[in-house]
Amino acid sequence: MNEVLTTRKTARRIRASLKADCSKCFGLCCTALHIIASNDFPINKPAGVPCDNLQADYGCRIHSELRGKGFKGCTVFDCLGAGQAVSQKTFRGKSWRENRNIGEKMYQVFPIMEQIHEMIAYTAEALSYELPQTLAKELSRQLKELEALTELNADELAALDLVMYRFSLNELLISASDIIREKNMKNVRIRGRELNQTRADWMGRKVAGQDLRATNFRGAYLIAADLKDTDLRAVNFIGADLRDADFSGADLSASMFLTQMQINAAKGNNKTKLPFYLERPSHW
Ligand code: SF4
Repeated sequence: MNEVLTTRKTARRIRASLKADCSKCFGLCCTALHIIASNDFPINKPAGVPCDNLQADYGCRIHSELRGKGFKGCTVFDCLGAGQAVSQKTFRGKSWRENRNIGEKMYQVFPIMEQIHEMIAYTAEALSYELPQTLAKELSRQLKELEALTELNADELAALDLVMYRFSLNELLISASDIIREKNMKNVRIRGRELNQTRADWMGRKVAGQDLRATNFRGAYLIAADLKDTDLRAVNFIGADLRDADFSGADLSASMFLTQMQINAAKGNNKTKLPFYLERPSHW
């Protein structure tokens, strides 16, 4: 029992620690990624080319006015700490600016590290819940494997095939989510509502004030949905598209598998309750 409690506590700490620290990163999201002009980013930027607004110290020239200048996408993006991991761990503090030869490899490795960090985030979050010991053990094993991947060198990272890691993790996350949702269903007034909304289209749906506890929104489209003052505890949001969904006053405190990027893309206010591992976006 102690072993499981320690694991849950450690997992909570790991999940909470996965945050971008731009002061330790060489502006990788502003350099490595290919960005196409859209409502969220006013210019085209090829992969491997630094954004015109990136300064010599890797800070953003327009950081405080990004939304006003049409760079909404920059306020949404979150690397879950992959940027500083690649900059400081994989490349040991060597920047693409000081040594242009490593740039190409760095840009290749950044999105791979991002995916690994995302999988670690989901695994650690799942482990922070009270789960049957067999499932917790399997998740612990997976977490160790994923953490070991972050120690690989650049060539090893670039050669990774992450599909098999994603595949086995998906099964475990579905099991964890089902167990947590089922535990919570006892307290939910279902009244004929369909709890399985996997990949459902809820775009623009108006459900303000409703009790949506224990719904499975895995991969669902909730773009611009009105979710004000809803109860979303024990809801699985993995992979859901939450752009401009309005969570003002909603209770997300015990929602599952949310990311900072999903929340940054959504709307909310100072009454929205968030899970322990997410920060309230500055634009809310
Ligand atoms: S606008 Fe600023 S934050 Fe956005 S990509 Fe350019 S430098 Fe980075």
